[in-house]
Amino acid sequence: MNTLTEPLENRNGQLFIDGVSARDLAEEFDTPLYVISERRIRSNYQRLYSALTCNYEKVKLNYAMKANSNFAVLKILETEGAYVDAVSPGEVFTALTSGFTPDRILFTGTSVRTDELKFLVDSNVTINIDSQSQLDRLLQISVPKTLSVRVNPEVGAGHHDHCITAGKQSKFGIWEPDVLTAYETAKKAGVGKFGIHMHIGSGILEVKPFLGALEKFLSVAKRVHEQVGVDFEFIDVGGGLGVPYKPEDKPLDLQVFSDKVLSLFKARTSQYGLGEPFFCMEPGRYLVADACVLLTAVNTIKKTPFKKFAGVDAGFNTLLRPAMYGSYHGILVANKMFATEEEKYDVAGPICESGDLLAKDRRLPILEEGDLLAVLNAGAYGYSMSSQYNTRPRAAEVLLNDGKCKLVREREHLDDLTRGQRQSAEWSK
Ligand SMILES: *Cc1c(COP(=O)(O)O)cnc(C)c1O
Repeated sequence: MNTLTEPLENRNGQLFIDGVSARDLAEEFDTPLYVISERRIRSNYQRLYSALTCNYEKVKLNYAMKANSNFAVLKILETEGAYVDAVSPGEVFTALTSGFTPDRILFTGTSVRTDELKFLVDSNVTINIDSQSQLDRLLQISVPKTLSVRVNPEVGAGHHDHCITAGKQSKFGIWEPDVLTAYETAKKAGVGKFGIHMHIGSGILEVKPFLGALEKFLSVAKRVHEQVGVDFEFIDVGGGLGVPYKPEDKPLDLQVFSDKVLSLFKARTSQYGLGEPFFCMEPGRYLVADACVLLTAVNTIKKTPFKKFAGVDAGFNTLLRPAMYGSYHGILVANKMFATEEEKYDVAGPICESGDLLAKDRRLPILEEGDLLAVLNAGAYGYSMSSQYNTRPRAAEVLLNDGKCKLVREREHLDDLTRGQRQSAEWSK
């Protein structure tokens, strides 16, 4: 059984999200539908920010917007005082459009084109460089006021190989000797202010891997400070805070995380003479994952000699994580919240690939066509990873706050699928 946490509630056997009936939402906006709780995003932000600031005053949270880049989500976090971590010019553009000023945007891209660097310079955002090549090309365009370098702290962590973003096999970050070269280059060119950055991976539910990477990372910062004479305005330890997806997953204990990470941070910054830089983190998943459910309707019940399939209208075009990472997402039957879980189903989407399953051998109440499923923890890397594969329009997104709801992204229509294509197939002579 999934235990319900805010903003989910069982009211007389019906699922309510932030005081709104899932049934009513599906009727009004159709399915598949992403439903986002404003209150939960705010409480996630505040919980993390206060857990950190109770140990250290100078904290900045750069929301890793690739997790969920809906304007509504960005605006909520903007009003909370968040900063943004953007990984593409498109994200920078979206963050600026949603109201973030350039001084609140950090760009952390990899494999960055020179014209993209020009765009970033013109946008006045702070850049985290990921290679010496990127730095050299940046300096030919302009010498930034502030520059940060992404360090590979040689240890990574994460819930899946694809999500480990440091260590020997990683394409991200710069290795220690080259980090020194990068800061030397930047200093010689006249850069005046500096940050330093790492991001080791995603979906981390334990403090230990984080501490190991932080220890190495801060020793690199020390060498840069001593050998290149750089002082850091900020030290950014990246994102990666996990959320529990499976019933047996234990949530990260934020207070323990904050106590351990910040006591190491304070001990080393003082021991290494690094002053009192801002402590930055880049939470993506942590802020938005559990603030959103995906509603999807059962349209087909199909039994084979081996399996029971519940065919639903959301596939990996709508939520990629189960197909891409084998991720687990809790599933509730929104209209049968009292029913016991009696049957095993594969919950299958409409995509013509066998891997298109939202859940495999999942124990659920007996399902009927017309039932409404709620796929939990869909707020991070849900809509943002969705596609038009199989030529299907993307889902809609709705924002909830205290019993009120509004559409924050329209459902795509058939003509969205053909936009930009040219009809004429003839070659001119
Ligand atoms: C994706 C990403 C994050 C956020 O990761 P989460 O696991 O969602 O917290 C943070 N920093 C950078 C540079 C990233 O690419």
